[in-house]
Amino acid sequence: MSVGGNFVDNVVIVGGGTAGWMTAAALSHKFGTSGAQITLIESEEIGTVGVGEATLPHIRFFNAAMGIDEAELMARTQATFKLGIEFAGWGKPGESYIHPFGDYGEPHDGIAFHHLWTQQRLAGNHKRLCEYSLPVMMAEANRYTMPDPDPAALLSTFGYAFQFDASLYAAYLSQLSQGRGVKRVEGKITHANRNGENGRIDSVVLENGTVIDGDLFIDCSGFRGLLIEQTLATGYEDWSHYLPCNRAFAVQCEPSDPIGPYTRATARKAGWQWRIPLQHRIGNGHVYCSDYISDDEARSILLDNLEGAPITEPRQLFFKTGRRNKLWNGNVVAIGLAGGFLEPLESTSIHLIQQGITALVEMFPTDASMDADAEEYNAMMQLEFDRIRDFLVLHYVANQREGEKFWDDMRAMEWPASLKEKVTAFVQSGIIPRYDVGAFLPPSWLAVFVGQNILPQGYDPRLDRFDANQIAREVENLRSRIAGTVDGLPVHMDFVRGHCPGN
Ligand code: FAD
Repeated sequence: MSVGGNFVDNVVIVGGGTAGWMTAAALSHKFGTSGAQITLIESEEIGTVGVGEATLPHIRFFNAAMGIDEAELMARTQATFKLGIEFAGWGKPGESYIHPFGDYGEPHDGIAFHHLWTQQRLAGNHKRLCEYSLPVMMAEANRYTMPDPDPAALLSTFGYAFQFDASLYAAYLSQLSQGRGVKRVEGKITHANRNGENGRIDSVVLENGTVIDGDLFIDCSGFRGLLIEQTLATGYEDWSHYLPCNRAFAVQCEPSDPIGPYTRATARKAGWQWRIPLQHRIGNGHVYCSDYISDDEARSILLDNLEGAPITEPRQLFFKTGRRNKLWNGNVVAIGLAGGFLEPLESTSIHLIQQGITALVEMFPTDASMDADAEEYNAMMQLEFDRIRDFLVLHYVANQREGEKFWDDMRAMEWPASLKEKVTAFVQSGIIPRYDVGAFLPPSWLAVFVGQNILPQGYDPRLDRFDANQIAREVENLRSRIAGTVDGLPVHMDFVRGHCPGN
């Protein structure tokens, strides 16, 4: 919490998509009705981006902090559980793996499990790593239950997220926030007025002439970046050379079995296709690079690969991967698509919104601390964006789809130096970047490395102090405990129906 100067007591949120309403919910929760005045402006005429259905487990902490009842939220957003993402065809065509929300195995005397697995693999035991991951085995078997709060229990070794209708989520948060005193204004902003002395934004002006003043403006206006870019010209760091996909078609289709507890990302000729099963429909989309295929072909690939009849018209979206040079500039903080975009391969956009909000709430400024807070905020958020970028790039550069132009070019690209170091350390000795916070912790990196056939050639030498046969028995015992546990769990949708009221 910042100290010194006058407390900011007039906050204006520009935009009422997922980013705008998540921000409104968090700030109104922090300040209650007696704190800062919070106004949110949204334009029905402009609308929202209207896609974004898969989340990361961190969202549960956001919801819990807001006092949201999870079962009620699931019922209101038609949500299903998500244990991870299946990547189909990202290694060799025909292969697939699941990146789970959870651990692989159990450490042995402080040595991470994947070293045990590597030792066994180098000795000729070729069991898949995923057989030691409870969430992968649950997802593959289409089973679900809640994690056990007892950290010693096998059923405590996974986390979960949701696959939900993000528009219904925003609507839910809108109701919640307005109940907590947030003032909603419907209207289209035409321009902003800047302070002649310090360049900060004093007010925004609506098409009908209404002027809305503020001390702090949160730009949640989507890709257009109404304040952060169109007014302040903050600049954009373009990452198209690392992540060249720049367009998508999105379409919803009728539900089809299985409505499993996982999202699927299937590699296609020049991009990839998502499948996100909700209770009442399946969300689908095709993310592609327009340098390699035409829009018509991209649309056909999507429609030809649906598993149910379409119930909406395919909608085209355009984007450029990257982030603003500063996410906090002057008295404007950009959250959501206004701040940057990384393709939805690992469902990170809503997570980045949450990160931005959490950091903002933690360092909520006074008028005197604004510049110092901005500097710290920008450093934190840039690091988070950069790490996620590296993680996404890994999926592309580690493909083995030889003979397909797009994928051949992805393998040949100049890797970010930070990613190169991570891969080298893993291949040589099984070392994985150890971040304490952030979207992706070591098990996530492990899932993608191994899933895409980047295999360690060495393991922690401390393991050689133990009896290898004993370790082999331990590893096999765990594998059969996981298999036995999964067999006894409910089918995912049976669990969802029992868990959500009204289903
Ligand atoms: P928007 O939804 O675009 O909202 C912008 C708001 O600003 C609207 O209310 C609009 O009316 C308002 N506005 C704009 N201009 C004005 C103006 N002049 N006056 C008044 N109001 C204005 N995220 C995930 O986490 N998981 C996913 O699976 C996922 N999939 C995605 C797939 C694709 C193809 C894309 C493009 C994105 C995906 N996302 C995903 C991202 C996700 O959709 C967004 O992060 C999320 O919806 C937040 O959007 P937003 O609120 O920043 O912007």
